[in-house]
Amino acid sequence: MIYTITLNPAIDKIIEVDGHLTKKKTNRVRKHEYDLGGKGLHVSNVMNQFGVENTALGFIGERNERLMLKILDEKGIHHQLIREPDKETRECIVILDDSKDGSTMITGAGFEISYERFGKLLSFIQKKVQEEDVVVVAGSLPPDMCMTQFEQLLMQIKQTSCFLACDLSGDALKKAVEVGVDFIKPNQHEIQDLELPKDVPLIGQLEQLARNIQYVVVSLGEKGCYMAHKDSIYKIMAPAVEEVNDTGAGDVFVGAFIAQLAKRAPLETMIRYAVGCSASKVTHRNCTDFDIEHAKSLFQQIKIKQVEVEQNALS
Ligand code: ATP
Ligand code: MG
Ligand code: MG
Repeated sequence: MIYTITLNPAIDKIIEVDGHLTKKKTNRVRKHEYDLGGKGLHVSNVMNQFGVENTALGFIGERNERLMLKILDEKGIHHQLIREPDKETRECIVILDDSKDGSTMITGAGFEISYERFGKLLSFIQKKVQEEDVVVVAGSLPPDMCMTQFEQLLMQIKQTSCFLACDLSGDALKKAVEVGVDFIKPNQHEIQDLELPKDVPLIGQLEQLARNIQYVVVSLGEKGCYMAHKDSIYKIMAPAVEEVNDTGAGDVFVGAFIAQLAKRAPLETMIRYAVGCSASKVTHRNCTDFDIEHAKSLFQQIKIKQVEVEQNALS
């Protein structure tokens, strides 16, 4: 089984405004819609598109539970979310206008998780997660979740010996690297959060991280990504597409990669689906849609090059 964990779930509210979003002016809404939010839930949605069975774990606020359950149902997400009484799942507002320079995001902070509910998640993991399973922990942490608590979660997952993939940032990413996980995918900003030695070039940083982590990906938006795996480092060029909204590209990358990992596909196939599907995603207006057939049509444009690791790039 594959489990995704979303500690800080969200409802995305996509708002399209006429013209260009401007301060000191009435920006009239053309259309709005609700969409699934929270990175772990996005990853579940991607795996559904690949027909890979998975269960979304994490939390749901009781106050706006009906709306969240409706969205989960529409997307066909199988979940065992733990209800936090008297709390509200946050909204993340994504504003799209007629300019082609990306979206504006205003994200809610989320709700605090009680010790009791957190304990329920830990005991679920202890009872259900098996060695052959995959667990994906993705997205921000709830307000006030301390690193000790987060470490407790990672250690509980690690105790099961399953494959542990993390899409995190800041201190949570640092913690994942410290305890040792199986997959990370920082983007070009998140890699800075690791505060790796500045005099070591990116390739050297990847090599260092890959000593403890099976798959290390650093994603670089339209430029593609670097991947380190089994003593090799690859530079992967993304296909050229018309970018409409790049928010969620990383989530699609992670979901497609893990879906192929679950199907025991060869590394090259995992890379092509991850890079192809995330490129397809950026051509869509919302944060979750992508098209597998479109991705396949982009495969031949994806260039995978093994990087020669020079000794002076390493520490
Ligand atoms: P997210 O918003 O989901 O957190 P991210 O910032 O983590 O995204 P990015 O580095 O922006 O992730 O993008 C992930 C991958 O998506 C890239 O490695 C690349 O393969 C693909 N991608 C992103 N933007 C483009 C683009 N404009 N054209 C083609 N591919 C893209
Ligand atoms: Mg990005
Ligand atoms: Mg990301």
